[in-house]
Amino acid sequence: MKIENNKVVNINYKLTDDQGNVIDESNDGSFAYLHGANNIIPGLEKALEGKDEGEKLSVSVSPAEGYGERDEQQIQEVPREMFPQDIEIQPGMNFHAQTPDGTPVVVTVTAVGDDTVTVDGNHPLAGQNLNFEVEIVSVRDAQPEELEHGHVHG
Ligand code: ZN
Repeated sequence: MKIENNKVVNINYKLTDDQGNVIDESNDGSFAYLHGANNIIPGLEKALEGKDEGEKLSVSVSPAEGYGERDEQQIQEVPREMFPQDIEIQPGMNFHAQTPDGTPVVVTVTAVGDDTVTVDGNHPLAGQNLNFEVEIVSVRDAQPEELEHGHVHG
């Protein structure tokens, strides 16, 4: 069965950056997504369109088709008191926040000063080329409920 909209696709994949570092991988057939429902990044979904069970492919996805370009304006210094007082803030921690227009974002702490904390609202993979090695394990029709929800049910 070929991959097209409204198919549930099971893939194994390895994701590396341009330096060859492994960012993420799944080898046990447990990763599934609903094709055409924006479950995965656009560049990868586009490359998988029309491919068949058992096929293997290498896909390089640019930031524009991945997690976007890095935006330096997303890096901000905010007062320490905006964070919970009962936890020790450390670089690498993630917090849920809102942009001024109310859009929810996850920010990553990049530095901690005496009175301020520097946070970065960019996706950790923004600005990076994403290199996928993909094997298509299986393709099936989605169940009506999966289509309704826009995601795969395990
Ligand atoms: Zn559901």
